[in-house]
Amino acid sequence: MGEERSLHFLEEIVEADLASGKHPSIHTRFPPEPNGYLHIGHAKSICLNFGMADKYGGKTNLRFDDTNPVTEETEYVESIKADVRWLGFDWEEEHYASDYFDQLYAFALTLIKKGLAYVDDLSAEEIAATKGTPTEPGKASPFRDRSIEENLSLFTAMKEGKYDDGEKVLRAKIDLASPNMHMRDPIMYRIKKTHHHRTGDKWCIYPMYDFAHGQSDSIENITHSICTLEFEVHKPLYNWYIEQLEIFPSQQFEFARLNLTYTVMSKRKLLQLVNEGFVDGWDDPRMPTISGLRRRGYTPASIRNFCDRIGIQRRENIIDVGLLEFFVREDLNKTALRRMVVLDPIKLIIHNYPAGQTEILKGENNPEMEDNGGYRDLHFGRELWIESEDFMEEAAKKWFRLAPGMKVRLKSAYIVECTGFQKDETGKVTEVHCNYIPESKSGSDTSGINVKGTIHWISVDKAEEAEVRLYDRLFQVENPSQEEGDFKTYINPHSLEIISAAKIEPALKDAKQGEHFQFIRKGYFSLDDKLSTGGKMVFNRTVTLKDTWTKEVKKG
Ligand code: ATP
Ligand code: MG
Repeated sequence: MGEERSLHFLEEIVEADLASGKHPSIHTRFPPEPNGYLHIGHAKSICLNFGMADKYGGKTNLRFDDTNPVTEETEYVESIKADVRWLGFDWEEEHYASDYFDQLYAFALTLIKKGLAYVDDLSAEEIAATKGTPTEPGKASPFRDRSIEENLSLFTAMKEGKYDDGEKVLRAKIDLASPNMHMRDPIMYRIKKTHHHRTGDKWCIYPMYDFAHGQSDSIENITHSICTLEFEVHKPLYNWYIEQLEIFPSQQFEFARLNLTYTVMSKRKLLQLVNEGFVDGWDDPRMPTISGLRRRGYTPASIRNFCDRIGIQRRENIIDVGLLEFFVREDLNKTALRRMVVLDPIKLIIHNYPAGQTEILKGENNPEMEDNGGYRDLHFGRELWIESEDFMEEAAKKWFRLAPGMKVRLKSAYIVECTGFQKDETGKVTEVHCNYIPESKSGSDTSGINVKGTIHWISVDKAEEAEVRLYDRLFQVENPSQEEGDFKTYINPHSLEIISAAKIEPALKDAKQGEHFQFIRKGYFSLDDKLSTGGKMVFNRTVTLKDTWTKEVKKG
């Protein structure tokens, strides 16, 4: 569907820039801060940056925006690289903003020498308090007019560790009356005597985001620096630094971030869910992280198709998570192997099937594939497991499954007619009784009988067991971040259901990590790569089969 859509506004800009010769080719970057795992929102940015470079024959860098030593860790760097690769992208160059610390320091000296930066002794609080309001100019710091020599020697002393955290900052000297608060002498450097995940203890001053980002873009000759809308107000400052330093004129463009229903999308909030034990790590299958979606059974193609479909806009909105589910269903429908699994078993006994007799039937692996994806053996016998929800003691209106006197087809096998059932002392149904119709075998049915219902089953003799995990939305409300109070009060307490001993057909014993299955009538599943160890199999449900989106998407 990618070919059919019209150009989005960033593609129009790029095409115009290429046509006018402003840039001979484009160079984008994806600039995560390594302070958490990537989420589906980042996937939108990744698909956009790498996608445009691919489309127009350009290049994309992966740059870690690691200027804040307090929150950043190498574990995050590794996970980010793995996630970008898994999504199907490869970067031209790998960079770290921290590799530019020397260059950025030199840039700061340049601005001081031009009389465009000064060391301020005010505290962060005092600076904030004297910044004014959008309608009222800020007040000059008493240190604003320090001489260039004094600023050079104080800034050097800051770098050499002569001062403590918060004692001094370096500020750009721009315009205290600017209607844009970011232009009111923004802080360029602050003192943080903290170990950095790459530079160790070499530095005790660290550049602010605004003083690092544009210059890093410029050092890498990035032509189109694409970020989310909240950075629009930073753009005049982004341009100011580049102009004053007379370096490569990278340009910033903004698009709307992705928001999804029934989840949260900020790393800070996701970190709280991890740290406070609401989920089992960043890659918990309920998390909107790339690693969580992967573990849940999402495919890279489904995420890329989703990102392509939602498009790139200038206005923020919230996307229904059902759309993401639509794309993974669409992908898995074509590739997943069909298997039968009974989650809540009761026994079906076929009275007219001789005890001790068994036969091997054929089950299609995937009717959507050529040759139906081949066939697997289905072991059939007198006793089968069926879902307890496929039986009713008394058929309700429009009930087309099992109930006394009713007929159903056993998937890929025979038609059976229910003759009765048995209950235990507590009133629970323990056995369902039936007769089968020998001439109704799937593929060679001469019975002439039509039934409305088909149910799945597994032979009791050959059934194996596995744990199956069913997931629901992590939050009970559409937009937890916009509700009153702590977003965590809206967590869905029933977001995980564990079925410890589901009956699985023997073919599933060969399931491998990364394979996708459709458990007939139950949804799409894959093995959990963390929990399936030592012979134990744990299947995660990626998504149910129900699909309410096809129509909407086709309309779309
Ligand atoms: P968060 O608020 O989740 O921590 P962030 O913007 O601080 O996200 P970064 O690591 O700085 O995270 O983001 C890297 C890139 O991904 C940036 O260009 C950012 O604009 C983009 N990005 C982050 N979140 C989203 C989102 N929800 N939708 C689209 N792009 C996003
Ligand atoms: Mg950020």
